[in-house]
Amino acid sequence: VSWQRVQGHEAQAAAFARAVRRGRLAHAYLFIGPSGIGKRLFAVELAKALLCEAAAADRPPDALEACDQCPACKQIDAGTHPDFRIAVRPPEASEFPIELMRDVCHGFALKSARGRGKIVVIDDADDLNEESANCFLKTLEEPPPRSMLILIGTGTERQRATITSRCQVVRFRPPPPSLVDGLLQEQGVEDPARREQLLRLGGGSPGQALALAEPALWDFRRTLLQGLTGRRYDGVGLAKTWIEFVQDAGKEAVHHRRRARQVLRLLIDFLNAALGRGVDAVVRGGEGEDKALLDALAARLSPDQILTLLDRCLEADFQIERNVQTGLVLEALLDDFAASLGPTRP
Ligand SMILES: [Zn+2]
Repeated sequence: VSWQRVQGHEAQAAAFARAVRRGRLAHAYLFIGPSGIGKRLFAVELAKALLCEAAAADRPPDALEACDQCPACKQIDAGTHPDFRIAVRPPEASEFPIELMRDVCHGFALKSARGRGKIVVIDDADDLNEESANCFLKTLEEPPPRSMLILIGTGTERQRATITSRCQVVRFRPPPPSLVDGLLQEQGVEDPARREQLLRLGGGSPGQALALAEPALWDFRRTLLQGLTGRRYDGVGLAKTWIEFVQDAGKEAVHHRRRARQVLRLLIDFLNAALGRGVDAVVRGGEGEDKALLDALAARLSPDQILTLLDRCLEADFQIERNVQTGLVLEALLDDFAASLGPTRP
């Protein structure tokens, strides 16, 4: 029943079940699709179903389904199965490190410990550099028997042709909005307007929509927007509050970056909404208290000024993605906002 965790990809699950029945499973797959839609979860469930040791009689006929009870299933759940590995690019590295790839390929060539073959997932294949791709190619050309490699990436154009040509490509699409809406409801997001906002912000990805649903994020958004639209703009104070909020997200710089970018995403969305109003006076959003904030901002800034600030936010987002120190980026950003909003208002 574990496939139920992988919602919205039933067609792909059925295709794999057919391939298993016909004995046509490939040795290498490339999973392609936007991030946050469950490709990695799908790979884990697939590995679990393939490595499950329950007798065929105990499993549903014609379904590629894990029993969730046998030692192999329990090991996959615990992340300790000796024949299954997910290799993830470390968050601080911009490329998939060659040392990690060598280690993965070396382990893959060893004999299967539980005797059902080995499965390796490479996440994220978008970030393979030439060195790690070449190392991986050798494994891809001579895979050990009963083994499977699964690469996960966001687009085929981001992969090397030498790799794509040796893999069977499986495409994943974002699940229908109704499914994401249901997940958000399950997470306790009761306000339909908020869910609609999250659907838009997540761009179809349930993972991203759920990550942005965190109430603390929306509390901080209110603080930030009130600071930007209030009578007195205090860029230094606002930057300090933002940095504190970002630091609450965890100890590592990667947590700070993620949260800073989540806030930026909400801010960019708000400025876009304000721009829509200013240009064609269409009441967009109208999402409760946002209306008052949008009115306040539109009364204060021209569409050109909003556009400039939007560009500035996108630039800040890019800098944080490129590992410029988060605190510095936020301070500079809110300092630049002062040029449009003015340090104090009469
Ligand atoms: Zn099992």
